[in-house]
Amino acid sequence: MELERFKELHTRFFGKELSEEELQSEDYEAYSDAIHGDEACYNWATLEKLKNKGFDYQNYCCLMMADKVYESLDEEGEIRYDDPEVIINKWDEGFYGIPVHNGGATMVVINYCPWCGSELSK
Ligand SMILES: [Zn+2]
Repeated sequence: MELERFKELHTRFFGKELSEEELQSEDYEAYSDAIHGDEACYNWATLEKLKNKGFDYQNYCCLMMADKVYESLDEEGEIRYDDPEVIINKWDEGFYGIPVHNGGATMVVINYCPWCGSELSK
């Protein structure tokens, strides 16, 4: 999808209460497909979200990592432990890990970004 077209749809749909009719529309389907399947559209939408939230995304190797770390935090910026939607954690000490959802704070430390392959510096 053209990014300009995507931006239009994003303005129309993002963060809005949508009716069943809108959710079933071809426009919404195209928007949803683009956000999940079109890298340029995904990156743009993610950047908008992180900028709006004031998240310091520039300190991350890639937008995917920034977004997943952002999603792992609660409103106070604390790690949401044992939330099955959280797929990556970043600790204040600077290391990254994949949480094991076993009811505790178990995690597998990783040294490379699973999305862009960058070495994760300490
Ligand atoms: Zn990365």
